[in-house]
Amino acid sequence: MTTTARALGALKASLDRMPDPAGRAEAAALEAELAAVHGVRHAIAVSSGTAALHTALVACNIGPGDEVLLPAATVIMTVSAVTAAGAHPVFVDASRDGRGMDLADVAAKTTERTRAIVPVHLAGRTDGLLDLAAYAQSAGLHLVEDACQAQGSTTGGRVAGTVGAIGCFSLKDGKIISCGEGGYLLTDDDTFAERAAAYRMHWLTPAPGAPAASRRGMNYRLAEPLAALARHHLKGLDQAVTRRREQAHRLYDLVGEIPGLNVHAPAPGDVPNGYSALWRVDLDRPRDFSTRLAEAGVANSVGTYRLRAAHQHPACQDLSPADCPRAAQAVDRMLAVTLQQQTTEADLHRIAETIRREAETWTEVR
Ligand SMILES: *Cc1c(COP(=O)(O)O)cnc(C)c1O
Repeated sequence: MTTTARALGALKASLDRMPDPAGRAEAAALEAELAAVHGVRHAIAVSSGTAALHTALVACNIGPGDEVLLPAATVIMTVSAVTAAGAHPVFVDASRDGRGMDLADVAAKTTERTRAIVPVHLAGRTDGLLDLAAYAQSAGLHLVEDACQAQGSTTGGRVAGTVGAIGCFSLKDGKIISCGEGGYLLTDDDTFAERAAAYRMHWLTPAPGAPAASRRGMNYRLAEPLAALARHHLKGLDQAVTRRREQAHRLYDLVGEIPGLNVHAPAPGDVPNGYSALWRVDLDRPRDFSTRLAEAGVANSVGTYRLRAAHQHPACQDLSPADCPRAAQAVDRMLAVTLQQQTTEADLHRIAETIRREAETWTEVR
């Protein structure tokens, strides 16, 4: 049977059971399996990665009047989750080498109102995560990881999304494992898990002994057929990560050495999941270069998905963001080539040839 046929089998079995009187059999099984695979006490399945982030902040009792530190080098979904919780996002600059959050800036921007730090593992990279975790602990702040792009990445032998108090993941298509749309949280903390599960379902599942519906929540449930698909794909998580890592390394080899393009090697102790192949672009007009690659059929974060540093994002101007020059430069110079499970060897050759050709002619044009 093909992978697709097996996925369809899992979907059909779940549809055959509907309407399921318990209502959440597949999601509950997915949660048990996610917790076991990651060696954590709790997994809570939700309807998206954005919902996972929002739910995580609510589970930490973060709301109006609170500040949350997050990297300026992030996607808009992280920012939206903070504002959806009613809190104020404070953007932190990138470290001197353009990787991860700058610890000095984190410390400088920590105030009496700061409640949490949300590092974002863009392109599956976890630079500086363990140092950040140590700082969060010493400063009494919650560390909530946006690990949506980091399924299977490790740092110092620890799995991304299990270092902080809560890890947030997406099951949207294009992530390492997916079921179309979905997400989940991982935590070892019983109270966070109870609150997250309650918030996900209009506070109808309160902690044992607590009254139901004492607070307002949301409907962030993961639909049963999608949970069945996610269970199916979870079985292939290790293979999916291995495949992406191989694809990324193959692409680095095929592209080889080109002036102006520098492979963004992982930090010592980090093993990224190969979500994207990652270069720093040291050519003129790096954003235009990434856009040109996108037009030539090489999907990438800046060119295709218009990634820009959050403090420069038009949708964030009402947040009176501070300038974060290193993050702006790091994002503008980031060439993160999106890899997919189904990307073939022929695709990798085509992508590599396009990158080489465009980089070489770009230098000439300059
Ligand atoms: C995909 C993604 C999200 C949002 O996940 P959705 O499932 O699309 O809501 C958040 N943060 C990062 C870093 C992502 O890559």
